[in-house]
Amino acid sequence: MAVKIPQGVRGMNDTFPEESVAWQALEGDLRALLALYGYGEVRLPLLESTDLFARAIGDVTDIVQKEMYTFVDRNGDSLTLRPEGTAGCARAAIQARRLRGQTPRFYYLGPMFRHERPQKGRYRQFHQLGVEVFGLSAASIDAEVIALSARVLRTAGVTASLQINSLGSPAARLRYRALLLDYLRPRRAELCVDCRERMEHNPLRVLDCKVAVCQDIAHAAPRLVDHLDEDSFLHFNSLQGLLTALEIPYQINHRLVRGLDYYNRTVFEWVTDALGAQGTVLAGGRYDGLVAQLGGADTPAMGFAVGLERLLALQRLQSGVADVVPPLLFLGALEDAAVARTWQIAERLRDAGLSVVTGGPTHFKQLMKQAERSRARFQGMVGGEQLAGAALRLKEQAGNGQWQGSLNAIHEGLHSLGVDFPERAPHTVRNFATARTSL
Ligand code: ATP
Ligand code: MG
Repeated sequence: MAVKIPQGVRGMNDTFPEESVAWQALEGDLRALLALYGYGEVRLPLLESTDLFARAIGDVTDIVQKEMYTFVDRNGDSLTLRPEGTAGCARAAIQARRLRGQTPRFYYLGPMFRHERPQKGRYRQFHQLGVEVFGLSAASIDAEVIALSARVLRTAGVTASLQINSLGSPAARLRYRALLLDYLRPRRAELCVDCRERMEHNPLRVLDCKVAVCQDIAHAAPRLVDHLDEDSFLHFNSLQGLLTALEIPYQINHRLVRGLDYYNRTVFEWVTDALGAQGTVLAGGRYDGLVAQLGGADTPAMGFAVGLERLLALQRLQSGVADVVPPLLFLGALEDAAVARTWQIAERLRDAGLSVVTGGPTHFKQLMKQAERSRARFQGMVGGEQLAGAALRLKEQAGNGQWQGSLNAIHEGLHSLGVDFPERAPHTVRNFATARTSL
């Protein structure tokens, strides 16, 4: 009877080494970049109380209504796999009383979960780098965060366009909401089914609907920016001045409202046409009310999240991705009796920080095949003859470099072939000097 092979969960990807290389390079570069701006990593749980997301993101958002992975655990508590990171980050900062004193600048990097229809650029487990700053309300921090977001894209080697908007204060937004409803009601029948529903709970979402008729209607709608409260208007102006001073080009998108309830004042997105329908790579904004809404002291906040799958997809299109770094040396054992010494030597070379892939014990032809597949820069085969003192041959696989000499002098052979031994070998307390003597 055929055994059924287990399948992964739809919309959740496996990533193998060839692809992980680009992930690791990007993640490493981003971590280094965040340090330049004084951000420190918070490592947060993937699970939170369902209640947190309902309260933070909003009951009538797509995420909370349709997209969350929610289950009841063995204690009967309702838990949810995090669909985004801001709510958990705010929760953690409030709980640990980290919102006072030195300005907290946090980032997190990891998987998020949303039960959406899987398609290119839209997955059920995807990854975000998220950035949050607490305690600063001036437009200057909005500008800093947006400058950081610009550099995130530059670091990844991608280009996209910056769109900004202001949602104003909650009170101004309520007044605008009423105006928008007055405009939408007579046009209700023309809207898509989703928007007819959205209109009742969250009419601003109609503005960013992707359906063509809704977009036409949204285009002619009253504009948020014309109905901002005085302070938000000044804040928005000040941000624009700073973006200009920092030479960050932007467009005002009057229909940019973001799908989460916690935003106020500045919202922004980096968008591209290069990824088809899934055009938003990075999105963020100000959420001054969230901390208080969750029971913390009134604390302004600002942040963004960038989807790493989309960032990498764009990188692949626009600047290519990093390739796997092949090992330095393939060292093969031609017979059982050669294994122990071959493995010892491989260990010593690794002590010195050199990457070695071993093969065998098996016959010459087989080892040659393995050596080629390993893509190692050099290869050498060890048999009884080499143990007895016959010369070991090191060969460059893709070039003409060659060395012959005693097995015990392999490090000298590598050195003469131009291999640099790292100053400080990683993952080890030994260095080249001890490796040399112990060979
Ligand atoms: P979209 O309009 O594409 O659904 P969103 O407004 O739901 O995006 P946010 O919650 O703001 O997205 O998340 C920030 C970023 O995370 C997005 O700009 C995108 O790059 C990425 N992202 C969001 N949902 C997914 C998903 N299901 N799969 C892959 N990446 C995603
Ligand atoms: Mg979404």
